[in-house]
Amino acid sequence: MIPYSRQCINPDDVDAVVDVLRSDWLTQGPMVEKFEGKVGGYCGARNAVAVCNATAALHLACRAFDLGPGDSLWTSPNTFVASANCARYCGADVDFVDIDPRTYNMSVAALAEKLEGAKKAGRLPKIVMPVHFAGQSCEMKAIRKLSDRYGFGVIEDASHAVSGRYEGRPVGSCQYSDVAVLSFHPVKIITTGEGGMLLTNRPEFLEKFRMLRSHGITRDVPPEGPWYYEQTDLGYNYRITDIQAALGVSQMKRIDEFARQRLNLVTKYNDALEGLPLQLPWQATDCESSWHLYVVRLQLDRLKKGRKQIFEDLRSAGIWAQVHYIPVHLHPYYRKRFGFKDGDFPEAELYYQEAISLPLFPELKEDEQAFVISTLKDVLR
Ligand SMILES: *Cc1c(COP(=O)(O)O)cnc(C)c1O
Repeated sequence: MIPYSRQCINPDDVDAVVDVLRSDWLTQGPMVEKFEGKVGGYCGARNAVAVCNATAALHLACRAFDLGPGDSLWTSPNTFVASANCARYCGADVDFVDIDPRTYNMSVAALAEKLEGAKKAGRLPKIVMPVHFAGQSCEMKAIRKLSDRYGFGVIEDASHAVSGRYEGRPVGSCQYSDVAVLSFHPVKIITTGEGGMLLTNRPEFLEKFRMLRSHGITRDVPPEGPWYYEQTDLGYNYRITDIQAALGVSQMKRIDEFARQRLNLVTKYNDALEGLPLQLPWQATDCESSWHLYVVRLQLDRLKKGRKQIFEDLRSAGIWAQVHYIPVHLHPYYRKRFGFKDGDFPEAELYYQEAISLPLFPELKEDEQAFVISTLKDVLR
C-alpha cells in the first residue's frame, strides 16, 4: 500500500523523543520554547506559540479577535473542516468564498465582490481565513489590501504550507496577515504526532495566545505568595508536550531537505503526466509551494471512466490516493446550520468532482513513484 502522505522519522527523531522521556519534564519544560524559537525563526515571524494541534491554534486565533455570536468568519470551501469549525467554537457564523480554478485557493476577485455586497448589507466579516491549499500561498498582498479597506482580520490557515514561500519570503512571516497557523499532523510537512503553531507579529496576541493555551491563567500579577496565579480569561488546556516539541525540533533540522525531496518528486510527476487527460498543478510566479499535496484534476470529458472508478482502480492496485477536499459547505452540519446547498460555490464543487491527490511524501521511493505513474496511465486508458 502506498499512502497519499506519511511522516518521515529517522533515528535522531527517536533519540530526541527518548531523551525527553528520560528527563524531568514531559510537558511545560524547555523543549516547547526551543521549538517555538526554531519555527518562528525559520518563518521570520516575531512570535510563535506552540499548541496541541492546528485546530486549537485556529480556535485561539479566532479568540484573539474576540470572535463571537453575531460575527462571521469567511474561509475557503476547499479546506479541511477545521478552518470553519474554529469559528463555530466561538459561536460565530461561517461563510465561504469560492475558489480560483487555477490555484484552488480562495479567489481574490470573488472575495472583493462578496465584500462589496456584504458592506452594502451591513454584514462584513470580522475575520477572513485564506487557506494555502496544497502548500501554495494565497494572494496575501491583495487580501491585506482588502482587509485595510473593509476592516477584517486575516488569519492564514498555513497548515499545508510551512517551507513554502510567497514573494520570496517564507509562508508564516505574517507580512500580510495578523496570524498564521501551522499543523504538525503526520501527513503535513513536519510532524510532532499532533501539534500546531500560532505565528504573529502582534505583541498583544503573543500574551493572549500563551494565556488561552493554559486556562487563561497568568502569573504576571502581584503575588500573594510564591504559589500565586490568577485566571483572568476563559482559556483551555491546548498545551503541547515536551515529547512532541522535541520531535518538532529534530524535524526542523530536515525541513529544507523535505522540501527539496518533495519538489523533486513533483518535477517527476509533472514530466511523466504531461499530455494525459489531466490538469496538473499550476503555480503562480510569486509562489514556491511547499508541495504538501500533488493534486491532479481529471478532464472527465476526455475520459471513459468517472472519478470514482479511477479512484477505486488506484486503490485496488494498492495506491491510497485521497480527495482534498469535500467542499465544507456541503457537509450535513453546515447545510443544516446555515442552509448551504449544492451550487453555492460552483468552482469548489466542480473541482471536487475532478480532484485526486497522488502519493507525495519525502520517503516515497523512486520505484514506488514509477508504479504510481504507470498505474495511473493504465487506469486512465
Ligand atoms: C490538517 C489541517 C488542519 C487541522 O490540523 P490539526 O493539526 O490536525 O488540527 C486545519 N486546516 C487545514 C487546511 C489542514 O490541512
